[in-house]
Amino acid sequence: MSETMKCLVKSQAEKGLWMEQREIPKIGPDDVLIRVKKTGLCGTDAHIWNWDDWSQRTVPVGLVTGHEFAGEIVELGQNVHDLEIGQRCSGEGHLIGHLSRQVRAGRFHLDPETRGIGVNVDGAFAEYLKLPAFNVVPLPDTIPDEIGAILDPLGNAVHTALSFDLVGEDVLITGAGPIGVMAAAVAKHVGARHVVITDVNQTRLDLAAQVTDVVTVNVTTTDLLEVTSGLGMKQGFDVGLEMSGNQVAFDQMVEAMVMGGQVAMLGIPPGKSQVDWSRIVFKALTIKGVYGREIFETWYKMIAMLEDGLDVSRIITHHFPANNFEQGFAAMLSGDSGKVVLDWAVGSEEREINISAR
Ligand code: NAD
Ligand code: ZN
Repeated sequence: MSETMKCLVKSQAEKGLWMEQREIPKIGPDDVLIRVKKTGLCGTDAHIWNWDDWSQRTVPVGLVTGHEFAGEIVELGQNVHDLEIGQRCSGEGHLIGHLSRQVRAGRFHLDPETRGIGVNVDGAFAEYLKLPAFNVVPLPDTIPDEIGAILDPLGNAVHTALSFDLVGEDVLITGAGPIGVMAAAVAKHVGARHVVITDVNQTRLDLAAQVTDVVTVNVTTTDLLEVTSGLGMKQGFDVGLEMSGNQVAFDQMVEAMVMGGQVAMLGIPPGKSQVDWSRIVFKALTIKGVYGREIFETWYKMIAMLEDGLDVSRIITHHFPANNFEQGFAAMLSGDSGKVVLDWAVGSEEREINISAR
């Protein structure tokens, strides 16, 4: 007899997601089965919800969505000897191959064959998730499940922020979405001097100020250069972290950088955009594209920082039971939320599934 689980599926090629019952995934010899406890809603999930051009090209109809999660291991594949049943964990949602030059050189995050859970293969918005044991990241007791569920986007923030040396530097972050705000907290934690974050949404800037010690600038009402001169900055920003995906924000960043400054770009512009390359050349800027997290160095560093006082907990503004996912998506799509967390354990404790009897 096969046991079933509830999961949030892209069942139809139209806007929305649908809660369904599916068979609990069968794991292979190198996998683990994770009982999912909490998951984070991500901008990627909003694209999939909206069924925009990118998701129509990328996401197969019938996919179990979701990639930000924390849970507990309930079953081990026969080759898995270094993890235990009951281990609390999160995990890297990018599944990599073994054959590319990059992977064979140990640069796992640069594998061109990467597939994403909840994007290309079944994901974590489910009571149970199948994951290669290699991708599991054990959680120390000091990190609660709800923070475990947002380590994926915190990892984006950490990977971007640690792209360049920030110690004593002045840092500009464009875009106070959840990732921009967490990047601001990381930049302060590692010793940046001034950290300035811009947005056009005052609610998000107010949230940024609650999460960390950052100078917020609403670019619709305030001149960024006035703010920097008020801070006593004589030249521009040493490091820029682009986290809005917005062309106007990027232009403003280029203008605000110091000669020879360094820019890490995480934000994804919606399509091709006009860039004033001559300005970038004459300013001798370095620009680095950032994708995902370094596997597993980013995970190591962020857990170390969380254990050493980095606090991003206030970025979580909404909690909902998984059954109320529509409210969760409405909160995220409003643009005024921080991270939205869905709880998959609520109401399911009484249904203890006997994995070994499957
Ligand atoms: P988000 O959409 O929640 O936040 C973007 C913020 O930028 C919003 O608050 C928006 O108001 C703000 N913004 C819009 N116009 C602006 C302007 N002119 N100046 C300043 N801010 C402006 O996104 P998020 O979830 O925090 O993610 C940040 C970005 O990173 C997004 O573009 C996302 O697609 C991208 N992303 C990239 C990767 C990767 O691997 N490269 C991974 C995750 C997310
Ligand atoms: Zn995400």
